[in-house]
Amino acid sequence: MAETKRVYGFGKDASGVNTTEGNKDMKFILGGKGANLAEMANMGLPVPPGYTITCQACMEYYDKDPAAYPEGLEEEIAVYTADLEKKMGKKLGDVHDPLLVSVRSGSPFSMPGMMDTVLNLGLNDESVLGLIEQTGDECFAWDSYRRFIQMFSKVVLDVEGDVFENALTLKKRARGVENDNELLATDLKELVDEFKDIVAKEVSAKDYPELVADGKVAFPQDVNRQLHQSIEAVFRSWNNRRARDYRAMEKIPDDLGTAVNIQVMVFGNKGDGSATGVGFTRNPADGTNEYYGDYLTNAQGEDVVSGIRNTDPIAELKNEPGLEAAGIELDNVFAKLEDAYKDMCDIEFTIENGVLWMLQTRIGKRTANAALKIAVDMVNEGKITKEEAIMRVNPTQLDQLLHPQFDPDKKYEVIAKGLNASPGAAVGRCVFSADAAEEATAAGEKVILVRWETTPDDLHGMIAAQGILTSHGGKTSHAAVVARGMGKPCVCGVDKLKIDAAAKQAVVAGTDIVLTEDTVISIDGTTGSLVLGKADLIEPEVSGDFGTILDWADEFRTMGVRANADSPEDALLSREFGAEGIGLTRTEHMFLGDRKDIIQDFILAIGDKEAQQTALNKLLDIQVQDFLGIFAAMDGLPVTVRLLDPPLHEFLDSPRDLAVEICKEECDGASVESLAAKKKLLSLIDSMAEMNPMLGLRGCRLGIMFPELYGMQVRAITRAACELKKQGKDPRPEIMIPLVSAKAELEILRAEAEVIIAEVKAETGADPAISIGTMIELPRAAVCAKEIGEVADFFSFGTNDLTQTVFGFSRDDIESKFLPTYLERKVLPYNPFETLDDGVAKVVKIGCKKGRKANPDIKLGVCGEHGGDPESIDKFYKIGLNYVSCSPYRVPIARLATARAALADKK
Ligand code: PEP
Ligand code: MG
Repeated sequence: MAETKRVYGFGKDASGVNTTEGNKDMKFILGGKGANLAEMANMGLPVPPGYTITCQACMEYYDKDPAAYPEGLEEEIAVYTADLEKKMGKKLGDVHDPLLVSVRSGSPFSMPGMMDTVLNLGLNDESVLGLIEQTGDECFAWDSYRRFIQMFSKVVLDVEGDVFENALTLKKRARGVENDNELLATDLKELVDEFKDIVAKEVSAKDYPELVADGKVAFPQDVNRQLHQSIEAVFRSWNNRRARDYRAMEKIPDDLGTAVNIQVMVFGNKGDGSATGVGFTRNPADGTNEYYGDYLTNAQGEDVVSGIRNTDPIAELKNEPGLEAAGIELDNVFAKLEDAYKDMCDIEFTIENGVLWMLQTRIGKRTANAALKIAVDMVNEGKITKEEAIMRVNPTQLDQLLHPQFDPDKKYEVIAKGLNASPGAAVGRCVFSADAAEEATAAGEKVILVRWETTPDDLHGMIAAQGILTSHGGKTSHAAVVARGMGKPCVCGVDKLKIDAAAKQAVVAGTDIVLTEDTVISIDGTTGSLVLGKADLIEPEVSGDFGTILDWADEFRTMGVRANADSPEDALLSREFGAEGIGLTRTEHMFLGDRKDIIQDFILAIGDKEAQQTALNKLLDIQVQDFLGIFAAMDGLPVTVRLLDPPLHEFLDSPRDLAVEICKEECDGASVESLAAKKKLLSLIDSMAEMNPMLGLRGCRLGIMFPELYGMQVRAITRAACELKKQGKDPRPEIMIPLVSAKAELEILRAEAEVIIAEVKAETGADPAISIGTMIELPRAAVCAKEIGEVADFFSFGTNDLTQTVFGFSRDDIESKFLPTYLERKVLPYNPFETLDDGVAKVVKIGCKKGRKANPDIKLGVCGEHGGDPESIDKFYKIGLNYVSCSPYRVPIARLATARAALADKK
């Protein structure tokens, strides 16, 4: 039996021959970073050699109890390490010419900054002298060693990074310098000793007995131990909190594991002829076709993203003495990568003594605006097809553009400006820590997370906040990259903002403005503005590249897209967004506000036919107006109107409030008549109470119990349609009966409706086509869909109620009760009220199949929340629905998602 291969090499051997074993299609084995390093090496780009330990090895590590290397891995690593040493002619830990490596994570899906990295591995008290011997650069060698101790101790030994940063800050202060690279070799050597003391103090001998020497913890000198401990730490980082949070947010499966890349170190901190940077082949914020990124001379990779020093734009590289040639070569690399990947790539690079090295590439994350522009531009440049362009834009990400923006016609007092790192506007109260953001959001508040710069530990706060504001860091800083990935507005690098997180406040320099936890601010990630107070926001529009992509999507989609809308305004908005009809008008929303009294009169007059009819007559006139408005707005398009659905008690006053009122009035000595009336009302309301109202007298059951109620609604729909028809318009109402479980319910209600429709048509002389169908929201309706289909022109799957009734979960309670625990304990993979559950999908499928059997022309749609969710739309496509219906703002998302489902199927 062939042994499982767990390690793959990449790069050239000593004679310049490419010995790479992987390629870009192996990301589920080598992780994204490993697969792309292999690909770059195969393309002949300058990649420092190394090897990748597979994602499967990581999962095997977790399969052991306690977690441990799988058998044979250590030996395989030894073979590849020896090979790397041979390729480089250097040895790990050598006292004269040491090989130094980086140990980096890299999972199949990019999880920027979520997992761990160790750089400069292979340094110890002896090999640092070898590094000096080789480079003649004491500053560089001692700086590399102090960085290694700091990183290894944080990642492997769990020492707080701040302790080292504080020691570094104190040293700089003592020497009267600002920047790390102004410290002398002697300072750095002293820092190494201080850092080792920190390790002795901070690391518990009990937790790391193997590190104890002379009664205290010593920084590990054995380079092999350094290597294996770092690899294990990277494996472990797959399951740290921020990685788990990120995966949950991005719906990345937990069982993929991370690969570990061990790669020869190249140094960007060898003086002014060296640099390190990150870049994108196009602008990831707005999509402009330009090389984009930042670099720092004489620095290591983490310095760029950590925002420790302010970076220079990548266009400057070619003007930097000693870096000109590398700058020109980098342009060539950008062009080659875009040609090879046919997409915007992001890269990490290092220039060591004028020589360019590529450390990473991947398909770059981008804002929704950039995704649209890049996709459209690449079609126009002849690089990709329209179909590919559609597949490039993530429908969920479009949500970013469907959020409000600052109203450009209004004036705002911009108190500070920063970088426009991630578009969209956000308004909220300031909070100064991730935990505070999470707490406030859990309490239903909207907040802006204000930080000097974010780190991966802030992820939960970034998820919770409406937007992110930082005082430091560039457009490739952690805050910017992560916010763009999440589609959250972000303004970063507002250097006028002097933040004191401990005191929970920030001062806007040069002003007397102090932001505290009581201050509401607005940020605009499109312009980089910070505004005091609540700014006026405007609604989004579908135009430009957005409109182009959606027009292309319409060419390929086979499913219709409708909107759920209950008013003429919403109907018009959804039409602007491209809805091809209304899939659900919830008529109960028309009985609120000043109409509530009338429906209450109807309900409370039960048993008094005359009084009930008076109330219904009033409602009839109002409903005719409602339908006139909606049908006119959707002229020529279908409008599915659902007859009254909720339990009637939802229109009545709360019995608890009423009881309190009666009590108060009794104490205040109210009149006997007033008290008697209120008590009668209370007993009536009480008599209507049900133990399970959502399973009670609601939906079509109301129509069976109160035929005159549904009769009034059918009459209003038909009158409005006839009126418009007579005006030469083209109204297309579809009457939908909710919550049917038995054929007879629909049969009876349909027959009654048809009588009224015929009556109104005869009265008016108009003859609009009006179809009658039902919602499928109950398991019985789905399994008996063949019989029900015989009397229905259409089915609309109400997947909100269907999810509730298939699972037996209360849709109104689960999210605040046990769903979070169910998700955390992996009882459920996701919230089934957001994304269609596979079990519920099976029920929908049964309903469709049986409905079509009864009536091959039956129209099948969905109007539950799932109709606007791209993942659910894929499932509906596979089931074979004719259309999806969702809230107006999700119509563009659904247009793209339905096209993608059709294209994926074609592929
Ligand atoms: C449904 O149940 O899916 C539905 C659309 O109806 P409502 O959400 O109004 O119950
Ligand atoms: Mg429902």
